[in-house]
Amino acid sequence: MNIHEYQAKKILAQYGVPVPRGGVAHSATGAIYQANELGGDKWIVKAQVHSGARGKAGGVKLCESPKEISQFCDQFLGNNLVTNQTGPEGKMVSSIYVEEATDIIKELYFSIVLDRATQKVTLVVSTEGGMDIEQVAEEMPEKINKIRIDPSVGMQPFQARQLVFTLGLPNEAIGSASRAVMKCYRAFRDTDANLLEINPLVLTSGNKVLALDAKMSFDANALYRRPEIFEFHDKTQQDIREINAAEHDLNYIGLEGNIGCLINGAGLAMATMDMIQHAGGEPANFLDIGGGASAQRVATSIELVLSDENVEAILVNIFAGINRCDWVAQGIVDLLNKRDIDIPLVVRLSGTNVEKGQKILRDSGKKVITAETLSDAAHTVVAEWKKSTGK
Ligand code: GDP
Ligand code: MN
Repeated sequence: MNIHEYQAKKILAQYGVPVPRGGVAHSATGAIYQANELGGDKWIVKAQVHSGARGKAGGVKLCESPKEISQFCDQFLGNNLVTNQTGPEGKMVSSIYVEEATDIIKELYFSIVLDRATQKVTLVVSTEGGMDIEQVAEEMPEKINKIRIDPSVGMQPFQARQLVFTLGLPNEAIGSASRAVMKCYRAFRDTDANLLEINPLVLTSGNKVLALDAKMSFDANALYRRPEIFEFHDKTQQDIREINAAEHDLNYIGLEGNIGCLINGAGLAMATMDMIQHAGGEPANFLDIGGGASAQRVATSIELVLSDENVEAILVNIFAGINRCDWVAQGIVDLLNKRDIDIPLVVRLSGTNVEKGQKILRDSGKKVITAETLSDAAHTVVAEWKKSTGK
């Protein structure tokens, strides 16, 4: 689960990591109020969306008057901000963060990630902050320094200093930077985070280090024990199709194509996506009905896929182990008895109770196109989609 920058900064501040003073607002009036509370005559106003690269998209601005703040809010609040990380739709801006402006001497990069391969927590720093870290990694890999922490031992202060030394900071900033790194590690550990990224971490004109940006993301499986983190959940930042699915406890990933897919298990889903592409189509989604799906659950899943207006054909691909083909077939027939589906519906059933399932589909007299194998199913759905749409 991702959270907003201002929320991540709130967490970091609780752990004693230095962050600029700031306040969040949901209207132009609120933003000007926050600026007045902060005082001074220069503020950084930042559109809050779950995305980086807001700066390049105009979503981060230095303002020198309440009028400029108000113009920024009018431009962004209630609209979608498109960055090179959001996709063409962009993400809804419903809050603006107003901060005191910082005098920057140097922009650095700092992050903590959970490295599954080594089963260790990895801290990454670079002197090349502010910009695209992927580009730095590619073009100047020598500018990136890492250390790995064994979570069962935890981070030791000497490790923080070792890492900070690679940043070439002035002597008087090294102690505070090392302490900030230790505090970030604690914040990461105590919140079940799987990512903490500060880009940029800056050196100020007063030789202080400050987290100027902050991104945190958390292990969704640990949220049950972190209610204070779950409170930061912002539905407006998620694909509406995924939210609806989550309400039914279904895993749904929205994609850009036209073939809606209902599949059991992530592995079969990946294979099916590949096969659809191979057959010349593009999946509209990836919906995993899971194991032991009831007829009711199958019907709900199809309705969910149908509610996506990009969907112009549906493929149900079930390899039943724990699942039962007869339940899946019954779910399909129940739905077709309730409503018409005017797009091609291709069903491939295999595994437990397959004969029973196929019989239910046949006896229903409904227009269901059946397929035998995965390859057959993918080619059939793409061919039917082309036939019905003329694409
Ligand atoms: P991002 O583009 O979404 O990653 O947003 P950031 O919070 O990282 O801001 C983008 C850039 O704006 C930073 O890399 C800085 O160069 C600049 N910036 C942000 N806050 C300040 C500030 O207080 N003072 C100055 N001078 N620049 C800032
Ligand atoms: Mn940034």
